Amino acid sequence: MAATTQLTSGTWQISLPFQSEPGIVGSYLLAGNNELAIIDPGPGSTLEALLAAISEAGFTPADVTHILATHIHLDHAGAVGSLIQHTPNATVYVHSKGAAHLIDTTKVVASATRIYGDRMQELWGEIRSTPKERVNVIEGGDVLTIANRRLEVHYTPGHAIHHVIFFDVHSGELFAGDVAGVRLQDIDYVRPPTPPPDLDIEAWSASIDLLKRLRPDVLYLAHFGPTRPSLPHLERLRERLLSWGDFVLGAMRDGKNEAAILAMLKEQTEPELQRVTRDPQALTRYDIATNYPMTVQGYMRYWQKKHPERL
Ligand SMILES: [Zn+2]
Repeated sequence: MAATTQLTSGTWQISLPFQSEPGIVGSYLLAGNNELAIIDPGPGSTLEALLAAISEAGFTPADVTHILATHIHLDHAGAVGSLIQHTPNATVYVHSKGAAHLIDTTKVVASATRIYGDRMQELWGEIRSTPKERVNVIEGGDVLTIANRRLEVHYTPGHAIHHVIFFDVHSGELFAGDVAGVRLQDIDYVRPPTPPPDLDIEAWSASIDLLKRLRPDVLYLAHFGPTRPSLPHLERLRERLLSWGDFVLGAMRDGKNEAAILAMLKEQTEPELQRVTRDPQALTRYDIATNYPMTVQGYMRYWQKKHPERL
């Protein structure tokens, strides 16, 4: 698969080789009117590949005018602080609740280091802070005029408290980040990425309603690629988000610990994915995009924090 795929006349998809695997972590490029926007530049570990993909699409880093983050998780925006040093004409757009963590990455680095330890560099590369004057804070309801488009910003919490999507009303393209789930190419299966600490099932379900009301023609997933039709995909995502949550809640009420719940959830749900693909790497590839330990930790924290009365 090529690293860069032109989707429409002004839209490119970039496949970043995260953990050396293409087709799992992606960015999008929007070009027009002498402007070039990157949506979700990915982790610092794939920055060189991103820069190579920009030139493969026919541009230079100096052409980049906008860097848009759907949210600040490291697989989406970890590269921002490094990228900005290569793109002198670019401004970063990020939701108000995420901006502080791009401007000062200390807390993000500390919490990721607690999780990933000595794999930090290999997984995420450099995680640099972004100068405040290069950051433009956005909110739901904003409209960005970029690259000959009107991009509506919609606030979509649930996966992360600072998550937004970008919707081009005219073309029907919706840049979804992670709020529309993880569905790898050629596999008809959507998995909810539910890491701690922000997972909020009710908020996410409301965000799914919002996405459905927009009636997008196509969802551009970060993990991975164009997905249509959008409405059945979003309903399947909601169904799985809720049913995995119920499963974890039930196991917690039965007094199971995290390790046991992890094993039970895998046993219960891995066959769902295996039924719809013959790709022997599918489980591994889905785990690179969103792994079971984080999934379980996210749900457990959610129930403990938001609904202790249910436990
Ligand atoms: Zn992600």
